[in-house]
Amino acid sequence: MKSTMDTNMIGPIIRVPISVQEKTIAHIRHCGTNHEEGLVAWSGIMRTGQLIVRNAIVPSNGVIKEYMSLRFSDETIEQMADDILSKGEKLIAQVHSHPFEAFHSETDNQFPLVHRKGFLSIVIPYFGKSGFEDFNEFRVYEYVQNNEWIELDLRLANKRFDLEGRKNGAA
Ligand SMILES: [Zn+2]
Repeated sequence: MKSTMDTNMIGPIIRVPISVQEKTIAHIRHCGTNHEEGLVAWSGIMRTGQLIVRNAIVPSNGVIKEYMSLRFSDETIEQMADDILSKGEKLIAQVHSHPFEAFHSETDNQFPLVHRKGFLSIVIPYFGKSGFEDFNEFRVYEYVQNNEWIELDLRLANKRFDLEGRKNGAA
């Protein structure tokens, strides 16, 4: 009973199937081989208080590089929003890579795919050299409001993210 209350207080658990992890890291690494950052969106549904990620969206084009950061073009975002909506899903998170350390840049703060409370942003270091098995090397941020984000510390990130195939809290 207590753990349910704690969970409510820290925000919903995010369940990420292996297929989504694999598609995400494959794209991130593919971009990395060209020394490019990669950007992937995750969509899914809310079910019994948990966010279930169903799709990793990798746009084939319509990625814009601006101020050392990646964004989807307005057209891509519109198309993506239509697709997601038609499936009854919503955007849950964005995942992007950095050449070196993982952190949230000022651009990352200002230009997420959506400005919505609870939207998550995951940053993967070193172009995805380490995959989801090294989730503790990643950085996770949650949108609050007015371009404000909070960083989920290691403990919280491990509580929130249920990565299929990985022992929880493998810190
Ligand atoms: Zn960034």
